[in-house]
Amino acid sequence: RAKQEGRNRFSFFSHDLESSIRERHQLETCLRNAIIHDELFVHYQPKINLATNEIVGAEALVRLTDSEGLFISPNEFIPLAEETGLIIKLGKQVLYKACQEAKSWLNMGLNIPISVNVAVAQFADPHFANIIEKALHDYQLPAELLELEITETALMIDAADMQTKLYQLKSLGIKISIDDFGTGYSSLAYLKKFNVDVMKIDMSFVKDMLNNKHDYEIVKTIISLGQSMGLALIAEGVETNEQRQALLELDCLMGQGYLFSRPLSASDFNAFILQHKG
Ligand code: C2E
Ligand code: MG
Ligand code: MG
Ligand code: MG
Repeated sequence: RAKQEGRNRFSFFSHDLESSIRERHQLETCLRNAIIHDELFVHYQPKINLATNEIVGAEALVRLTDSEGLFISPNEFIPLAEETGLIIKLGKQVLYKACQEAKSWLNMGLNIPISVNVAVAQFADPHFANIIEKALHDYQLPAELLELEITETALMIDAADMQTKLYQLKSLGIKISIDDFGTGYSSLAYLKKFNVDVMKIDMSFVKDMLNNKHDYEIVKTIISLGQSMGLALIAEGVETNEQRQALLELDCLMGQGYLFSRPLSASDFNAFILQHKG
């Protein structure tokens, strides 16, 4: 609800150009201040083994609140962060918080890999690999506990450059996953070229997979494609037990979604870990 209100605050006046410019400016100021004052925070959503119910990872999702404490959706401010270049600092802050959190789980005796979303501009940043290396070093986090989520479209932007960058990152020992798979514009040839580890099936296909035959077939096809390429598969947006069951029958072993948990604050995530049975 808070999120919904947050969204309205910033996009309701789109008919009126002047106020939409003002809204955008306000959002930018809010974002800039949050970055300067280190007031962004991060929520964590568990990734679950669909067969055993074990926690197999967590995704870091950035959170921003407005002056009244209402959540603003990342779908609202991430594009703005990308347009304004603020994404570089934002991304770095999220990465650091996420590594710190994963290290704290490790200190509790739990090996929970953390995944962080990465925008195109971050890859384009020549310092990106160094930033990753430094984060791992500063928090003494084993590289295999860090995963980066990139969208297909991002992979396409500068293919030659991307191949080198991914190689560089992968040689640090981190994992790469393709986020929102099936919604971008990539050709399948890219899958072969980029040595990625995980395919995340976009939630738009999972949502209706049980009442729309086409969606079901798409999910099935993505799974067999991923399997034939030796990739791990995870379904996003798993909301019902029926979906969990159907995915499992199709041999998709991991899922993420409201069925298991919404994204949680760091302390709620710790509570989730402690009470979770799997
Ligand atoms: P994403 O990476 O595909 O993240 C999954 C989104 O789906 C999250 O939305 C999550 O809260 C939501 N979700 C998870 N399970 C369910 C479910 O069962 N049902 C439904 N309806 N939704 C579910 P969120 O947190 O609003 O983030 C939206 C997008 O913003 C992310 O999509 C990602 O593209 C971007 N984003 C979020 N945090 C970051 C960040 O730190 N850096 C960058 N570059 N992008 C980010
Ligand atoms: Mg993601
Ligand atoms: Mg996604
Ligand atoms: Mg998405």
